[in-house]
Amino acid sequence: MKGTVLGIEGTAWNLSAAIVNEQDVIAEVSDMYRPPTGGIHPREAAQHHAKYASYVVKGVLEEAKKKGVDASKIDAISFSQGPGLGACLRTVATAARMLAITLDVPLVGVNHCLAHVEVGRWKTPATDPVTLYVSGANSQVLAYRMGRYRVFGETLDIGLGNAFDKFARNAGLGHPGGPQIEQFAKGASKYIPLPYVVKGMDLSFSGLSTAATEALKNNSMKDVCYSYQETAFAMVVEVTERALAHTGKNEVLLAGGVGANMRLREMLDIMCTERGASFYVPEKRFMGDNGAMIAYLGLLMYDSGNILDIENSHVNPNFRPDDVDVTWLPKDFEERRETCI
Ligand code: AMP
Ligand code: MG
Repeated sequence: MKGTVLGIEGTAWNLSAAIVNEQDVIAEVSDMYRPPTGGIHPREAAQHHAKYASYVVKGVLEEAKKKGVDASKIDAISFSQGPGLGACLRTVATAARMLAITLDVPLVGVNHCLAHVEVGRWKTPATDPVTLYVSGANSQVLAYRMGRYRVFGETLDIGLGNAFDKFARNAGLGHPGGPQIEQFAKGASKYIPLPYVVKGMDLSFSGLSTAATEALKNNSMKDVCYSYQETAFAMVVEVTERALAHTGKNEVLLAGGVGANMRLREMLDIMCTERGASFYVPEKRFMGDNGAMIAYLGLLMYDSGNILDIENSHVNPNFRPDDVDVTWLPKDFEERRETCI
């Protein structure tokens, strides 16, 4: 694999540009949108991204130059094509198109969910994992099978991070809610039963969030936060375990901002140990949304000839990972892995 790619992430709250090559992340500059009150407002987030696009792009080019990589060394521009907030995606795509035209290099459209998986494979020893991707907007269990990353299970309503954030807002806690729920949960003294919603391999968090809010009327914040976490995490661990059993894979990779949660990691670790599987968690900077993952999958796609015409570079707010033909792995990837073990 060869090349240097500048990638831009901006599906939701984090606007982030990075330059990577096959060895490492050369530079990364980010600027986060922080809502003054409540959750993410899509139009305000997009306005933030428009305002800071030149700051992050110039910044990352300057950082890379200091390390001997100037703009003439960039082989392609990649951007998050979806899924994400439409207004944010359009803003970032416009910046990416402009850069590709200015530098006269190809444009690569990256699926955001797959970027989480590939950066995890890059930055941990995982080779062919079942990935639990739990972020603000997304909750999916993904694994590679016959040319595509298949979605083995997913949320039927909101992402787990958003479910935590919604509860936190209703409870008068600030945004984002996940880290605060984790802190409160540590001081709990009892478990309160809450709706455990797994349908086949799919998940639902909306009712759980409402029930947790209701439970606050008669219970302490600590007990509710603890019970909410235990219930939601048991649901995602169950689906991940069944995906492992079904695919016969022996690695689990955790991705997405909710993956910062130590209790979730502990539960996944226990499940993996019991099944004889390896459990991998990337460094925190590669877990939440980041430009490096978009640049890295951009590099893999660029190397395998997977580039876009500017005319066909429209964004897709509902872009599914299983819509993407995986051009960057050998067709016999799974068999090779099996013979390597
Ligand atoms: P992302 O969309 O991947 O950038 O992740 C953001 C989401 O992660 C937000 O919804 C946060 O509430 C959630 N989050 C961040 N830290 C934690 C944590 N320690 N525990 C649970 N959720 C978290
Ligand atoms: Mg994400």
